[in-house]
Amino acid sequence: MSKNKKIIIAIDGYSSTGKSTLAKHLAKEVGYVYVDTGAMYRAVAYYSMTQGLIDKEHFNKEGLIADLDKIDLSFEFNAALGYAEMFLNGKNVESFIRSIEVSNMVSKVASISEVREKLVEQQQKMALHKGIVMDGRDIGTVVFPQAELKLFMTASAEKRAHRRYKEMIDNGVRIEYNTVLDNVTSRDYLDTTRADSPLVKADDAIEIDNSDMTVEQTYITAMNYVNKKLSE
Ligand code: C5P
Repeated sequence: MSKNKKIIIAIDGYSSTGKSTLAKHLAKEVGYVYVDTGAMYRAVAYYSMTQGLIDKEHFNKEGLIADLDKIDLSFEFNAALGYAEMFLNGKNVESFIRSIEVSNMVSKVASISEVREKLVEQQQKMALHKGIVMDGRDIGTVVFPQAELKLFMTASAEKRAHRRYKEMIDNGVRIEYNTVLDNVTSRDYLDTTRADSPLVKADDAIEIDNSDMTVEQTYITAMNYVNKKLSE
């Protein structure tokens, strides 16, 4: 097996299926760069919220489109954490973009074609030398249709909401389970029904339903596919 072989690993799927945990682990094991594209959409949503462009009732889409040139997104590797953190206009926004407030707005922002165009272009540039694990919703279909390995993650909405709920409670966030479930199901709906780049399994993607798998079992299953691909 050649671990020096550089491929693109695209991981798509529903929210809270453990995509980023899996992607980080795989990237570490094979020495690849990990890119969390959800963080980029979250950062644009956070920008829109702080600029008053979006709230529960209103969304100034034209205003956001006009502001796109003012939005600079970058990742900076944090050696202590072992992964890159999201920076918006030079500011580390990691601690803001995972909130339920941002989660409730992000899919609306991600449905705007001009936003997607900007982010996809940036994502494609990151993989010029391959050796990358990227997770999101459209990686295997739009960003890298040529990716050598595509994984598509699913799990029941209830299992996913339970995981996200536990994670938030463990992190000291006060939240109701039903609020988390509502967010998971409404994002599923928006992400799968939007006109531009909806969440859909690529024809050549391998589906992994981890409803009844542990994090470790999910990793072992995925790593087997990676090893197989690297040894071809
Ligand atoms: O992966 P994460 O749950 O952080 O993604 C947040 C949201 O960003 C998704 O629900 C989706 O609306 C959007 N997204 C997207 N395309 C991607 C990654 C994320 O539309 N490649």
